Amino acid sequence: MKCWKCSQEAYGICRFCGRAVCKEHATEMPFILSVYCPGGGSSRAIVVSGALYCGICKPLPSPVDMPELDERGDERGWEDDK
Ligand SMILES: [Zn+2]
Ligand SMILES: [Zn+2]
Repeated sequence: MKCWKCSQEAYGICRFCGRAVCKEHATEMPFILSVYCPGGGSSRAIVVSGALYCGICKPLPSPVDMPELDERGDERGWEDDK
């Protein structure tokens, strides 16, 4: 696989978007494995620091609403949060 930016041989895959990047163009960014909200406290996250990041994609700092998924959730057989 080749680097997304320079077409040299890639050394890794971006943890966020899956693009391949070479050592020169690979950067690092904390990767959030999961976020939880203890009752009454502030939100906390389990984070892997130094995850491989391509520098191209734009991981958002917080979850986004996806109302279209909520509407069709039953059809897809996904479980509601209980
Ligand atoms: Zn490159
Ligand atoms: Zn990426």
